[in-house]
Amino acid sequence: MYAAWSFALVRFLGAVAVAVAGGLVFGHVELWLLGVLGAYLVFHLSRLFRLWRWLRRRRTEDPPDFGGVWGDVVALVTRIYRRKQFHKRRIVQLFREFRRLTTAMPDGVVVMNAEREILWFNRNAMTLLGLRRKVDFGQRIENLVRHPDFTKYLNGNDYALPLVLRSPVATDVFLSLHVVAYGAGQRLLLARDVSRQMRIEAMRKDFVANASHELRSPLTVISGYLDTMVDDPTVDPAWRGPLEEMRRQAERMRAVVNDLLELSKLEAAGGEAGEDLVDVGGMLALMRKEVLTLDQRPKEIVLRLDSDAKLLGSEAELHSVFANLIGNAVKYTPASGRVDIRWWTDTQGAHFAVRDTGVGIPAAHLPRITERFYRVDPGRARATGGSGLGLAIVKHALQRHGAALEIESEEGKGSLFTCHFPLRRVAARATAVSA
Ligand code: ADP
Repeated sequence: MYAAWSFALVRFLGAVAVAVAGGLVFGHVELWLLGVLGAYLVFHLSRLFRLWRWLRRRRTEDPPDFGGVWGDVVALVTRIYRRKQFHKRRIVQLFREFRRLTTAMPDGVVVMNAEREILWFNRNAMTLLGLRRKVDFGQRIENLVRHPDFTKYLNGNDYALPLVLRSPVATDVFLSLHVVAYGAGQRLLLARDVSRQMRIEAMRKDFVANASHELRSPLTVISGYLDTMVDDPTVDPAWRGPLEEMRRQAERMRAVVNDLLELSKLEAAGGEAGEDLVDVGGMLALMRKEVLTLDQRPKEIVLRLDSDAKLLGSEAELHSVFANLIGNAVKYTPASGRVDIRWWTDTQGAHFAVRDTGVGIPAAHLPRITERFYRVDPGRARATGGSGLGLAIVKHALQRHGAALEIESEEGKGSLFTCHFPLRRVAARATAVSA
């Protein structure tokens, strides 16, 4: 490249030298210089003109065939132009691919800015969410997908799990809406038709509810006969052991069936629990009395009521929550141990806690402990007559009350289960009450 410039410089100096020599030989150096420099200028102007003309028509015309520095300039411009064309073609191709991909996607995709105004959406978003091309660009998404749960989900900023809603377009269609946050406050909304999964889920729930219901009556009859036979002195004593075992197993089955039915009921109810006035203090005092009548129990069962606050909720569901948690504490704590039950309120809401000095739960099991049929030690749980559904019921019932379950436990030392109820579920202000 620099070679061309050196050559151009040498040529220019040569032309000047020729002009000076001509002037010296024939006189009028200035006229000779003017003539040579004029010819030099015309030559470069003509090259510049041809370059300009080619740049204007470069799509249809081949580049001019220049040598020297002008040739270098043409080569450089051609290279830059080709590179630009290449990138442009790539971007156009990528964009077309992106559009083809989003059209082929089974999900509806909506791109929103930080103000939740719609910037772009694909064809499936039009079908699933009823969005209209052009008209709905720039609109806020919650003005078009109108549902209080969706607005709450958007405002919540916790998009770990999708939200399932009835479609705003067709009532028999269920949509899973998942927001993905990215960039500077931008959000992507993915909408998927989950009607089939919802139907299968509903069928599964119906099946469990119906099967449990159908099993209940035969089990009651079997348990009744077994009770009679165990107590019957005319029955061969050799049968006493097997009959006792059969009665225990029938009792376990009854517990499982009852818990399955309870869970089915909770699932079928959906949404938020009702708002009966529930006297938690009275309920806990009664439960403590019942526990005290058990043959096998920890020797100390202490109830501390720091508040007389009542809860607004479903009496049956709250009874189930407290009974399950107290029942577990009693079940998994040896006779020499202690169970502490406490009810109190503070500025956050109302709280129920049950602490025991029992076997505890190893940390590895804690994340899964509220799953259905999950047991730390299946052998021990079966021996204690547990269904494995108690904590699943507790979690579900608490969710319906807007409450959270907190579990702390240390293997071999004991456990602490705490339920935190929100202020909106507390019926009366707390006043100190001595237990
Ligand atoms: P189960 O009917 O088997 O007690 P749950 O759902 O109530 O079922 O509890 C699930 C499992 O959690 C139990 O099998 C037991 O291993 C463990 N667990 C629950 N509560 C306690 C507790 N207070 N102490 C130790 N382990 C517990």
